[in-house]
Amino acid sequence: DHDGGYAEYCVVHENFAYALPDAIDDQDAAPLLCAGIIGFRAIRRAAIERRVRQVAGKIARDFKGQRVHLVGVLKGACIFLSDLIREIDLEVSVDFMAVASYGRESNSSGQVKLIKDLDSSIEGMNVILVEDILDTGLTLSYLLRVLRQRRPKTLRVAALLDKPAQRREDVKADYVGFTIPNEFVVGYGLDYAERYRNLKDVCI
Ligand code: 5GP
Repeated sequence: DHDGGYAEYCVVHENFAYALPDAIDDQDAAPLLCAGIIGFRAIRRAAIERRVRQVAGKIARDFKGQRVHLVGVLKGACIFLSDLIREIDLEVSVDFMAVASYGRESNSSGQVKLIKDLDSSIEGMNVILVEDILDTGLTLSYLLRVLRQRRPKTLRVAALLDKPAQRREDVKADYVGFTIPNEFVVGYGLDYAERYRNLKDVCI
């Protein structure tokens, strides 16, 4: 298959810390003290690197001979995007959007507001929306609605992480790094109150 036999690495099971081939040595089971919280390295840097290369390879095959336009969703996706883009062997351009979400914790429908729009038109382009993590799907569903109106030639989604357990909107990513259980994760661009984005591993 196109994933080159890597598919089994993509689904991270209940105890993430032990789930990945790279993560079976003692070092990875050990707690990681990161700026005041005790976390675990849930997905190690090396596993992320390899998976990012796989995802980029799939994108390059899918859009062979064409140009792709990556749209990063700030701020969480910036690390993933910056690693991904360097592995895509095609003509690539980049733009960014930023959104704010409200009411994520409530049962009422969460609201998403655009706080930074694209710099230029995406009409007729092969757009790949690059997200850090797909959870309820509210953010992605909003962004897809906004972007579809602008008539890209194709519109696909790449998400580093997918947490399908809490999905409220019927959306999915075309390219997923890792499918993970319903845990709050930080690192590799993902924050808790703007902290921990700089961790090299995805941590819980
Ligand atoms: P959704 O709209 O799909 O519920 O959530 C998407 C956004 O919520 C992500 O872009 C991210 O900002 C935030 N989010 C969801 N789950 C997590 C998580 O486990 N950790 C962090 N740091 N952010 C999350």
